[in-house]
Amino acid sequence: MNIIPNLKDFYNYILPVYSPQNKIPVKGQGSKIWVQDGSEYIDFAGGIAVNALGHSNPALISALKEQADKIWHLSNLYTNEPALCLAKKLVKKTFADKVFFCSSGAEANEAALKLARRYSYEFFGSQKNIIISFNKAFHGRTFFTVNVGGKKKYSKGFGPAPTGIRHAEFNNLNSIRKLINTYTSAVIIEPIQGEGGINVAEYYFLEELRYLCNKYNALLIFDEVQCGMGRIGKLFSYMHYNIRPDIITLAKSIGCGFPLAAMLTTDKIGQVFSLGAHGSTYGGNPLACAVGNTAFDIISSSSVLSGVVKKHYLFKNHIKRINLEFDIFKEIRGLGLLIGIELNKNYLNKGREILKLAFENGLMLLNAGKNILRLAPSLIISNEEIEEGMKRLYKTIKKFKKNN
Ligand code: PLP
Repeated sequence: MNIIPNLKDFYNYILPVYSPQNKIPVKGQGSKIWVQDGSEYIDFAGGIAVNALGHSNPALISALKEQADKIWHLSNLYTNEPALCLAKKLVKKTFADKVFFCSSGAEANEAALKLARRYSYEFFGSQKNIIISFNKAFHGRTFFTVNVGGKKKYSKGFGPAPTGIRHAEFNNLNSIRKLINTYTSAVIIEPIQGEGGINVAEYYFLEELRYLCNKYNALLIFDEVQCGMGRIGKLFSYMHYNIRPDIITLAKSIGCGFPLAAMLTTDKIGQVFSLGAHGSTYGGNPLACAVGNTAFDIISSSSVLSGVVKKHYLFKNHIKRINLEFDIFKEIRGLGLLIGIELNKNYLNKGREILKLAFENGLMLLNAGKNILRLAPSLIISNEEIEEGMKRLYKTIKKFKKNN
């Protein structure tokens, strides 16, 4: 008889870099999830902005199954049809001319940062190598990206750190003007900081970044791993601002739960990644790209994108109503279905407690720092699922308020 795994196995066999909830999910459908004991949850977390088309999406399942019957993996010694189709679609719908596929957001950012440094090196010389990012930014956990990220706690104890990295204040023009100069190779920014607290870049700020990057021949990289691919109601975030970056990085929604990521750039910049300059065993894997193709077709439809904007307001209205009764939220921010709810000063550091209570009440939520609740549900979550999830959020906040 098979022995059913339990949470003790997690602590016995898996390195404790995570602290999972105490129930193990076994099945998902749309924006509902069931755990081992059969209890049902509404999913407002979306696998941290990954499950853009919900769980067990029939179109994605058939794309995966169909490809599974053909060919799984080839390596980049060969190319494959799904990767070629997806690259073509991405190029057709964006400013970009070329795509580099990989498997995670960190890997896409690593590629972008390496590309920027190589570009500066080839066109301007090795002294032009400084990467500027922003406080609170999150770009991944590889050695380079974790140091480029703006949270010191994530890179603590892994020194010596790579050099040539500076941090500016998000949405602060003076801060970036002081740092950027002819030695700057690239500026990397999340148009909407996700892990850092759902901080939305101001239009004027990104516009000035574009101007400064042009002035100093630095590349502008938009990390759209969390806020891209339909998440904010435009196919890509740069389209919301109408500001053209030189490189964008994508992950999460692009594979809807299958590990797939990409870096997009122009021919002029991309040419410095010549044969052998970079690579990834799983980059452009046929299974991942088969899912990616179907996900792309669905997410880029105008009905899904306009639905995201409508659902944003539905979520916001519910949250405002809850706050009218309980007065615990300071601010609701974000765009589309990347929503941050900041707790007011009486409830500082209580984010985790609310998450735990929500889970006990059948609702999966996220946080983004200690004081901010985050919602990043499926882009096609139904109105009924939103209503039900909000009833559970109401119950959660009522209980939380009683306890506090
Ligand atoms: N960049 C951003 C903006 C992210 O939100 C994340 C993950 O949360 C990453 C990069 C890293 O992605 P991954 O965990 O797939 O490496």
